[in-house]
Amino acid sequence: MRDGVVVVGAGIAGVACARELSSAGIPVQVRERGRVVGGRMASRRFDGRPADLGAAYLTVSDPEFAEVVRGWQAAGLAREWTDTFVAYDGESCREIPGPMRWAAPRGLRSLAEQLGRDLPVETDRAVGGVGPGPTVDGEAYAAVVLAMPGPQAASLLHPELVAATESVEQQRWSPTLAAMLRFPSRRWTDFRGAFVNSHPLLSLVCDDGDRRGDRAAVLVAHTTDAYAARHLARPTAAGPEIEAAVRDLLALPDRAEHVHVHRWTYAKPAGGDTPVTSFHLDADGIGLAGDAFGEPRVQTAWRSGRDLGRALARRLA
Ligand SMILES: Cc1cc2nc3c(=O)[nH]c(=O)nc-3n(C[C@H](O)[C@H](O)[C@H](O)COP(=O)(O)OP(=O)(O)OC[C@H]3O[C@@H](n4cnc5c(N)ncnc54)[C@H](O)[C@@H]3O)c2cc1C
Repeated sequence: MRDGVVVVGAGIAGVACARELSSAGIPVQVRERGRVVGGRMASRRFDGRPADLGAAYLTVSDPEFAEVVRGWQAAGLAREWTDTFVAYDGESCREIPGPMRWAAPRGLRSLAEQLGRDLPVETDRAVGGVGPGPTVDGEAYAAVVLAMPGPQAASLLHPELVAATESVEQQRWSPTLAAMLRFPSRRWTDFRGAFVNSHPLLSLVCDDGDRRGDRAAVLVAHTTDAYAARHLARPTAAGPEIEAAVRDLLALPDRAEHVHVHRWTYAKPAGGDTPVTSFHLDADGIGLAGDAFGEPRVQTAWRSGRDLGRALARRLA
């Protein structure tokens, strides 16, 4: 058996977990199927400029996460964005105060990347199966962490890993489409971010130029889960309808000159009972971490990864 732990998934939960293990002196490898780290903290470049297509912003209440965020701020990677969004309800629009929302000038992915900078992360390395032992693609390790949405973890788990399989099968997830819309110029009244209530298509629209701080004429719209569910097979085909809905909502005179639609099949855990623990760790040596263990937030995923990393470090010490 090989020493150490394999963490599958280099989203914020996997990276936070691997950091804890590494700082406790436990050998750890992170395997990520994507070309880059970050997972749903996804910033994709369009003509060299990143736009956030996954998480829209961060909120912070955990004191230890606040320290991490202050570190990102000191490095120039994160900044306080706004505590005031607007909410559209049919024809009415009102301001609503809320918690401070943090944004990242280089995109939220840069934050996960910074947290994972000294860790052995292999990208373009999809794991195909996790078996009893535990094994990862046939090789045995002291423990394996699956830091990803439950349905993705379920597809990897051997049926003999009953406890982990039962845990992921309890999770319910909903989809979202996220559309980047680049306009010829900024022709909207300042609004930062808008919750769109009771709309057949839109749930959130954010001013990505304001969020990023470069004042680019870029909006990012998220759809409702019901609309996304109907368009999962052909997300790009939904682009014109999403664009028209955003123009109608904000009374924009110009059409977008570039529209890109990203599909999140597993965007957010969909309600249900809040789990009593912030992670899963069982006698088979399988750990599960992510935002399914609480509110669907970056902070939840980070905390889940951190807590699982600490629990594993205690077990393996
Ligand atoms: C559209 C959208 C809007 C959101 N808005 C907000 C918001 O405003 N504020 C907020 O706090 N949160 C928001 N969230 C939630 C936030 O993005 C997540 O809570 C957080 O990023 C989850 O991190 P994670 O590490 O648990 O999972 P993920 O980021 O999903 O990471 C899982 C990783 O596992 C990898 N993986 C999967 N299968 C394999 C495999 N077989 N082998 C190797 N790697 C694999 C994936 O490629 C991925 O990188 C939003 C999410 C979405 C999708």
